[in-house]
Amino acid sequence: MRFEQKRWEGARIHAVSGWQACRFKEWKAILSDLRNQATLKHGASDMSKSHPVVVIGGGVIGLSIAWRLARRGERVLVLERESVGKAASRVAAGMLAAAAEVGFEEPELYDLCRESLSEWPAYADTLQRESGLDLDYRSFGTLVVADDRDAAEALRRGFRFQQGQGYPVSWLSGGEALEREPMLSPRIVAAVSVPEDHAVDNRALLAALVKAIVNAGGEIREGVEVKRIDADASTPSVAAIEKDTGEPIHIEASRLVVAAGAWTSDLEGWPAGGKPSIRPVKGQILELRMRAPFNLKHVVRGPKAYLVPRTDGRLIVGATSEEMGFDPRLTVGGVYSVMDGAWEIVPGILDQDLLNIDIGFRPASRDHQPIIGFTSNPRIFLALGHYRHGIVLSVITALAAERILMDDEADSRVAAFAPGRF
Ligand SMILES: Cc1cc2nc3c(=O)[nH]c(=O)nc-3n(C[C@H](O)[C@H](O)[C@H](O)COP(=O)(O)OP(=O)(O)OC[C@H]3O[C@@H](n4cnc5c(N)ncnc54)[C@H](O)[C@@H]3O)c2cc1C
Repeated sequence: MRFEQKRWEGARIHAVSGWQACRFKEWKAILSDLRNQATLKHGASDMSKSHPVVVIGGGVIGLSIAWRLARRGERVLVLERESVGKAASRVAAGMLAAAAEVGFEEPELYDLCRESLSEWPAYADTLQRESGLDLDYRSFGTLVVADDRDAAEALRRGFRFQQGQGYPVSWLSGGEALEREPMLSPRIVAAVSVPEDHAVDNRALLAALVKAIVNAGGEIREGVEVKRIDADASTPSVAAIEKDTGEPIHIEASRLVVAAGAWTSDLEGWPAGGKPSIRPVKGQILELRMRAPFNLKHVVRGPKAYLVPRTDGRLIVGATSEEMGFDPRLTVGGVYSVMDGAWEIVPGILDQDLLNIDIGFRPASRDHQPIIGFTSNPRIFLALGHYRHGIVLSVITALAAERILMDDEADSRVAAFAPGRF
């Protein structure tokens, strides 16, 4: 294995081959160009017009909502303390999973994921058209595999539940699974085929959202950290700082959308009893490059790891789930546990190129379900706590936010996830 470029970037290692270094530079250039357009095109906010909807946080949730509002003609300003699309949303594997990901004990979340999945194809088409960028939306489905009798029993229970919910799943013997995905281990004893659980390249998704927001007239300001929200005044506002200069900024808004991911609890100024409780759940995840003849077509999920192929030959292998706060360390144990779980179900990954190891912080609420809706103040909308499902749920979250904020209509699909449930 030859590494031509190796560098540290915070907690992220880039161990990059020549080909990948080239792709990495291209990706950085595209994003930097988009960012310049976002700020140059619109300059500083023109406060003489009506106040904008201010979105706090430029992850997949904030950007998705901003796009849906901007394309409806609303003035939108996204405030991001670092660079957009760099936190959990960039690190994610991009699985669009309802059946394969959500358990029996979460029927409402399961329904929400299915609802979001059903909206994904049309939403992706619109976003691709309006941004001019491809999302690498892959609809080959998912294989959930078991490599011993215990795992097969657990798989069978899940399979019956999914069948009972009317999900189009089918049971495969180990041999049948191998026919569909020849890189699986011959030790696989059974699998469930989940044809409707798809995948997307979440980094391409983020780039497309940025471009589509800019095209629709929205504004994105990076390097602006919101410190405090003022929820009480009739015109809500945020107190922020420009990170480069330390300069304080005060911005008035028509409404606030809080989508600050795992850092939400750091914001000050919540109404009494209204501060949402969000904690970070650390995930370590690997990015490989597949070398022919090794190739995977489906998303493959085993008892301890998952593998998500991209059309450009990358393979995402994840992920740990660690209650470590904002611990930024890559650990040998984390990488080992992911690789061990992945190797057991797809042994050929040991010969593939290692490109990156990343860390992300999933934003988790107390019940591990998202928080979507107004606080007690009808000018403050929360879109938080998407935990393991933020990429798949970004669509239903954005569509619901659009309906609630633009059309003044309730959305029954997200009613169970209102902030008032805590
Ligand atoms: C390893 C891993 C794998 C995953 N795989 C999947 C998957 O396959 N499928 C799936 O559906 N989900 C997956 N997820 C979950 C998904 O990534 C998250 O649910 C989703 O990214 C959350 O999006 P977000 O916009 O809420 O948060 P983030 O992407 O973390 O964005 C929040 C943003 O807010 C900004 N911010 C915070 N505070 C402030 C402030 N005070 N002022 C201004 N800006 C601020 C941050 O800088 C950040 O950019 C995965 C997560 C991890 C970690």
